[in-house]
This record gives sequence, structure tokens and C-alpha cells, in this order.
Amino acid sequence: MKAFQKHDRVRGGKLIDAPIPKADGDYVLCKVLATSICGTDVHIYNWDAWAQKRIKPPMIFGHEFSGEVIEVGPNVKNIKVGDRVSAETHIPCHNCKQCKNGKMHICKNLKILGVDTNGCFAEYVAVPEICCIKTDAKLPPEILSVLEPFGNAVHTVSRSNVKDKDVAIMGDGPIGLFAVIVAKAFGARRIFAVGAQDYRLKLMKKLNPDYIFDARKEDVTKEIMALTNGDGVDVTLEMSGSSAAIYTGIKSTTPGGTLTLFGIPSKPVEIDLAELIFKEIQITSIVGRHMFDTWIQVNELLNSGKVDLSPLITHTFPLAKMDDAMELLRPDNIQAGKIVLKP
Ligand SMILES: [Zn+2]
Ligand SMILES: [Zn+2]
Repeated sequence: MKAFQKHDRVRGGKLIDAPIPKADGDYVLCKVLATSICGTDVHIYNWDAWAQKRIKPPMIFGHEFSGEVIEVGPNVKNIKVGDRVSAETHIPCHNCKQCKNGKMHICKNLKILGVDTNGCFAEYVAVPEICCIKTDAKLPPEILSVLEPFGNAVHTVSRSNVKDKDVAIMGDGPIGLFAVIVAKAFGARRIFAVGAQDYRLKLMKKLNPDYIFDARKEDVTKEIMALTNGDGVDVTLEMSGSSAAIYTGIKSTTPGGTLTLFGIPSKPVEIDLAELIFKEIQITSIVGRHMFDTWIQVNELLNSGKVDLSPLITHTFPLAKMDDAMELLRPDNIQAGKIVLKP
């Protein structure tokens, strides 16, 4: 099969001919219908400091996809050949304390598809049955390929009690943008969206948050305070991982409010805990998707027609054009939203 491999400990990757993986044990073999590029894949492709520590080439990367099941292993019980699936990318061990207590997404022995195992930048991918999420075959494969990152936004918003609240969303990456869509669907009163990249700010406009701020040019805390009678927002969703955004979040959240952290800072962030304590700000941190409440919510949101993810999918390329796609996602000059690849 055709696959895109992180071939060596250098920037880039290579299109290769690889053996089709096997559907052993509780594994399911999927034909990849569409796969989308995540920020993690950009790290792996660019071979940055994080990738150098975590990734062991050669390996096929990529973890977000939609597929059709073409073979099931002997121990698979509920997934059938012909099912249309999207995938949870956290592969749990089933045996640790977290797995046994309904917290598989933070399994102590967690493996991530396309990070710790061969991934889906390929014509076929094998995943454990538990990670297969049956999806509505009527939705296009492009949309179904972005449900994993969309699920991150759903998990973040659903844990933050946004209904009828003023909500600030820091970050214009795909998950920050998805969070705008989800916060609306969950009934936020007003949404204050903050970005820092021209292309993504334009994309943000299409999602119609109540206010958009450019963190490079505006004093976001001052603007939020002016628009909330000096109170600040009830909820801040930090989706960028930028220390400046975290500081803004702490300053512009009202006393007794909620600050939910999803963005991952690339280095330690120094924060004034006293400020958080005196304001009694509730901090929640979120990783991945709750297995499997989040996926139930994802399917409900899509099937109810309450959300439209299509504005965020700005480009579709053949898998062989990976280098062109990565060019549009250069961290210093982003020119795309979500990019979908077709094997
Ligand atoms: Zn991802
Ligand atoms: Zn576990």
C-alpha cells in the first residue's frame, strides 16, 4: 500500500510502499477514506524538539481518519466489515487503574495512533476495535476524518459549563475554532474569540463568534473587561498553549469563574497562583476525548445538524501531495484550516 512515512530523524517524510497491516486479535483493518493533518503531524514532519524526543522513525504517522472496515480480527465482537468508522486515537491498555475506572483516555500505559504505533497516512490502517467509532455513513469522509480533533473541542466545552455564560476562547488552531462552534451549540451567551494569525482570524469570522480579537494588536483583557462591565468572562477556554494567552485568561476570567486548559505549552509557564487563589478560579485541564461520552456527544451534535464543520476544512489533497500540504501549515506562515488528504 501507499503510505507516508517519517523515514528518518530529519525534517520531512517519504511516500513509500508498505505492507498492508493485519487485523489480528481485537484489531480491525480499515481502508482509509480520508485523513486529516493534526498539529502533532506538523511537529513530526518538521522534526521539532518534541518530535525528536517522542518519535522513533521509521514509522507511518497520521492519526485522524475516517475509514471503511474491510476485515476484522478473530476477537472483534461489535464492528463488522462494511462499517463506516472514525477513530479514537488513544489506545488504552484495559488493565490500569484509569482504564478500569472509566478514564481510558488518560490510561497510564496509553499509546497514541500514529505517534507510538503506525498511523493512518496510508491506504490502510489497523486499529483496536475499542477505538472504532461507528459513524453516519451519509456524512462525507472529509467531515468524518476530523471528528477526533472536533471531539477535543467537545470534551473541553462540555467540561466547562458554558450554557448562558460569557465565554472567551483563546487560540485559532483548528481545535480553538471547533470550540467556537461547540460553545455556540452548547448555548454560550456570548463568545469572545482570540487569535493571532491572519489566515485563521479570517476563518474565525466565518464561525460568527460575538467578538474577535487579534492578540498581536489588541489588549484583549482590556477589551473583554470593557465589554463585560469590568467583570470579565465566566469561562475561558485556553486552546493555544501560549503563555501570554494563559496570562490573559487568568486576568480576564471573573472571580469564581472557570479556566479550562487544553492547549499544551511547549515549555514551563510561570503563573501567579495567588491571583488564581484570590479570584477562586476553577482550573480544569483536558486531554483527548472522554471514552466514550465525548463520542456520543460528537455523534449527537453531527446528527442533530447543530454543527457544521465544513468551513474549517479548507483544503483537500492526495496523500502524495503531503509536502505541499505541510507547506501551507508552516508554523511561521499558516495558510490553511484543516487539510484533508485522500490516499
Ligand atoms: Zn491530533
Ligand atoms: Zn490503561
